[in-house]
Amino acid sequence: MRLILLGPPGAGKGTQALRLVAKYGLVQLSTGDMLRGAVKAGTPIGHRVKDIMDRGALCPDDVVVNIVAERIEQPDARKGFILDGFPRTVPQAVALDRILKKRGIALDAVIEIKVDEDALLKRIETRIAEMTARGEPLRADDNPQVLRQRLAAYRAQTTPLVAYYRKKKVLRTVDGMAPIPDVTTAIDKALSPGPAARAGAADGIKRKRRIKPMEPRLGIMGNKSSKRPQAARKSSAARKRATRKAKGGDIARP
Ligand code: ADP
Repeated sequence: MRLILLGPPGAGKGTQALRLVAKYGLVQLSTGDMLRGAVKAGTPIGHRVKDIMDRGALCPDDVVVNIVAERIEQPDARKGFILDGFPRTVPQAVALDRILKKRGIALDAVIEIKVDEDALLKRIETRIAEMTARGEPLRADDNPQVLRQRLAAYRAQTTPLVAYYRKKKVLRTVDGMAPIPDVTTAIDKALSPGPAARAGAADGIKRKRRIKPMEPRLGIMGNKSSKRPQAARKSSAARKRATRKAKGGDIARP
């Protein structure tokens, strides 16, 4: 299984990724962790991105795309992976499509963890205060001012991905303001194969039904439209019966 977790900082992507790793035996590929690793190791990439990360801005697309392209090639990612924090811009999503296509693989789902921004700020500020009180080390970008910048970057550069993946019919949206176990349940539901997930109903978006060109267009607006598919099916079945009859197909066989 190949998944993307989409959501602003503090939405709970990391928490849910851990559960998905345990349940499906996937590897979690977090670009934030990879970039922090590069900074810590003092690699050329690390030097290039340190200041950008410290101020809560996004690192250049080419840097991140190269890191992910290499990481996906590793043997442990063959069975499946969860991308956490990537893609974060439309050009990154386009690059990912290209990388996956080249390897003949496809995304199974993009899980959007939807959260309220004000509640999120409070949630993270509380987390920062608690960690400080416990004397735990904080990330350089874990302070309220930088956090606002990270949220602004998400709003401006990452939210267009919701429409991008909705269009590709792989988007599943879950309510990230619910308690953690409920979010997990919602994700499991969104990932379980079934008519609702396949039709994209889990993303809470009403979709237009596709009408085959041959079928009569009945019911145009409002609640009438719900009758349309059944009526269309009936007329289609009637047409098939007529065709069979014309070919002598309705004659009972011995
Ligand atoms: P968050 O907790 O804000 O979701 P991450 O740990 O995923 O943060 O990332 C931390 C920082 O690393 C980001 O603020 C950004 O500077 C950089 N970063 C991570 N992933 C990407 C990406 N896909 N594109 C650009 N920058 C990224």
